[in-house]
Amino acid sequence: MLKLRMLNAIAPAYFYTATAATFVLHFFLFLPTLFQTQNALLGPVMLLHVTVLLFFMLNALGNYSMTIWFPAESANENIIPVCSPDCPDRLDAHYLLNGRHFCKLCKKVILKRDHHCFFTGNCIGNRNMRYFIMFSIYTSCTCLYSLVLGVAYLTVEYAISFENPLTFLTLLPLSTGYFFLGAISGLQFFLVIMLYVWLGIGLVSAGFCCQQILLVARGQTWCQLQKGQLVESRGTWRSNLRDVFGSRWVLGLVLPVQTVEITPGNWHCYQDHKHD
Ligand SMILES: [Zn+2]
Repeated sequence: MLKLRMLNAIAPAYFYTATAATFVLHFFLFLPTLFQTQNALLGPVMLLHVTVLLFFMLNALGNYSMTIWFPAESANENIIPVCSPDCPDRLDAHYLLNGRHFCKLCKKVILKRDHHCFFTGNCIGNRNMRYFIMFSIYTSCTCLYSLVLGVAYLTVEYAISFENPLTFLTLLPLSTGYFFLGAISGLQFFLVIMLYVWLGIGLVSAGFCCQQILLVARGQTWCQLQKGQLVESRGTWRSNLRDVFGSRWVLGLVLPVQTVEITPGNWHCYQDHKHD
C-alpha cells in the first residue's frame, strides 16, 4: 500500500515535469530552429505547428483537469468500510454492492469504478471516463507529434540520419556512453531521453485508450473484467458509448468541455443499476 501511495504522488509530478519539458523544448528549441525564418517571426508554417501543438496540449491538460474536477465518487456515501485481514479484494479497492467500490487510495466510495489512475491521482468511473479517454488520446497525439519534431530537430541540428531503423534503437545506448565520456552535452542527452519518453508514453496512451473504448462499448469496466464479469446487458454498443460520451460527444472530441449533464436522476441511475 505504501508503494501505491508513493506512486500516487510521484506519477502526477512526473506528468507535470514531462509536460513542462515538452512545452519548453518545443517553444524555445524545436519550433524556432525548424520553422522560424529571418523575414518573419511567425510564418504560416510556424503558425500551423504552434496551433496544432497548442490544440493537442490544451486538450490533454483540459481533459486531465476535467478528470479530476468530475470525480466518480458517490455524493452520499462517506462510510469507510473496514477490511478484515483476509479481505479477498484487490489491494487498492474494496468491492461493495451494485458496481460500487471503496478505493483505499482515494478513501471514497466510487460509482462504477474502472481503475485508479495514478497520473491524475483519482479513480476513473462512469462520470469521468470520457475525460480520461480524451486525455489518453490527446496525450498520445502530443507525444507522437513531439517525437516527430524531436527527430527532425536532431536531423537538422546535429546531422543525425534516421533513415536506418537501427539509428533509433542504438541512439540511447550510444548517447549514454558519449554523455559519460563527455562527448555530448547534458542538453543533447536530455533530448535523446525525451525522444524515448515520448515514444513510450505515446504508444502506451494509444493502447490504453483503445482498451478503454472497447470496454466502454461493451458496457464493462476494467474491475468487472478482472472479476470475470463478462456480461453487462445494458444495451447496444452505441447506447453504451452514448452513456459515457453523452449526446454532445462531437464537441467533447475537440474541446475539453462537459458533454453530459449530471442530474440527480443520473446519480440514482448509477447507484441503483445492478452490475453484479
Ligand atoms: Zn482511487
